[in-house]
Amino acid sequence: MRILTSQFLPFKIRTGDVEYRPVSAMALPEVTELALPRADFQGAAYQFLIGLLQTAYAPVDIDEWMDRYQSPPSPEALEQAFEGFIASFELEGDGPLFMQDLDPLDKESPIPSSSLLIDAPGASTIKNNTDHFVKAGRAEAFCPNCAAMALFTLQINAPSGGKGYRTGLRGGGPLTTLILPSEPDASLWKKLWLNVLDKSHWPYPEPNPKSFELFPWMETTRVSDKAQKTFASDVHPLHQFWAMPRRFRLIFEDHNCRCDLCGRDSERVCRTVKARNYGNNYDGPWTHPLTPYRRDPKKPTEPQLSVKGQPGGIGYRHWEALVLRDAEGSGNLPAEVVRDYARKVDEARHDNLSLPRQARLWVFGYDMDNMKPRAWYGTQLPLLAVPQPQQDRLLDWVRDLVGLSRDTAWQLRKQVKEAWFSRPADVKGDTDFIESRFWELTEHEFYSLLSLLGERIQDGTIKRLPPDLAARWYQHVRQQAVAVFDELALSAPAEALDMKRITGARNRFLYQLKKGKTAKKFRKQAGLEDAPLEQESA
Ligand SMILES: [Zn+2]
Repeated sequence: MRILTSQFLPFKIRTGDVEYRPVSAMALPEVTELALPRADFQGAAYQFLIGLLQTAYAPVDIDEWMDRYQSPPSPEALEQAFEGFIASFELEGDGPLFMQDLDPLDKESPIPSSSLLIDAPGASTIKNNTDHFVKAGRAEAFCPNCAAMALFTLQINAPSGGKGYRTGLRGGGPLTTLILPSEPDASLWKKLWLNVLDKSHWPYPEPNPKSFELFPWMETTRVSDKAQKTFASDVHPLHQFWAMPRRFRLIFEDHNCRCDLCGRDSERVCRTVKARNYGNNYDGPWTHPLTPYRRDPKKPTEPQLSVKGQPGGIGYRHWEALVLRDAEGSGNLPAEVVRDYARKVDEARHDNLSLPRQARLWVFGYDMDNMKPRAWYGTQLPLLAVPQPQQDRLLDWVRDLVGLSRDTAWQLRKQVKEAWFSRPADVKGDTDFIESRFWELTEHEFYSLLSLLGERIQDGTIKRLPPDLAARWYQHVRQQAVAVFDELALSAPAEALDMKRITGARNRFLYQLKKGKTAKKFRKQAGLEDAPLEQESA
């Protein structure tokens, strides 16, 4: 299968149909979305196409970027751009194979193809026959398209997989953040092209499709049996899109069968793969343009680390870390593509073109517990691209808002536990859901305010968080927090309710919401400090 010329990906057409077409169909105006059979494949397919565009069709400067954003290329123009890369994207055959080791791994015994899936037991667990805790065998037969996508998904997300089974270039289970237009019915082309950087801002040498520096499967793997490492200086910057930490060979047979992943009938099937350890051992620092990083400002010599998925998912409390750069303070380094979007918006304005300040940020990734995935997260947050000089001020404002929620969430959990238990400090068990409920209930209002802040910040004379918006946020946070407290504190069975204890906890909670250190400071800023409480509980 030649990946770049076959009917490789399922595209969603404006009519609602899904059709497998060659990758060059991504620029057709009637194509609105990808439609991969799994959420992790969907995220991987986006990165595959963005990586391909960045590698084979990168714009030289912002003008060319804008031209192609407004007038997508024809499929023929893309095919021409991809032509020199076709031979490097073979899935089967005698030469180098996409995302597979150049060595045929003849000495290895075949293992089930399900070991490519991150939610299945890894190669080493199957080998050690310790997989009786995890049910293997749910997905056994992969069509070539799904086998290729499973392999790519694993290579870009690879968690640690046992002795010598290397993690991905961005670490195990990195977050990916992609820019999407606000209109949900935008063409797929716009969704992809927003994530391509122009070469005047990201200069790199012309990529050579035959070289290891670009595509690691084109040459003998740099083995790491003696802990040899591969650094950014050893490879081409675009290698980051195509990194290959794991050594695999897919085994295909001629056999009519139904694919267990996409449900289509296929004449070729991949049921087994071969794997070997000690593949490319990537070591930092890296700056993958689609991933947010964090550095420790107190340890400036240590490399930045990618932000990972984490329990509790992604919400507005993570917004600043994903959108606003703060290298010296918190150490947050949003993905380059996010930073670049704000710049694109500003440059577009200079040229009298329109690129909206409001877009969406699609955040996704696994939440890994070392080798084991706990969950897959995928969420879309509003994105606000403010001009560079105003970003620090917006960061301060957002921190004020989220600081109040954080403190309130903490107090809420504490006081709900005090309402429930006579000895809350001794209570074991997960009480994260108390805070999660509050975060969920305040999310919508946060983004409404953020949109308003985006307008106010254009006025350079407004230095601090505008008091009217601060007051609106305070009221909302207080109201929702008290509602969650009442709902949860009274949710125990009637015979277990201790009204005296509940009332005591509720009064302490109300006091903290007004007189606690964070609340008091925030109320002052909102001009509420002297107002009687009755007027506030709208
Ligand atoms: Zn399939």
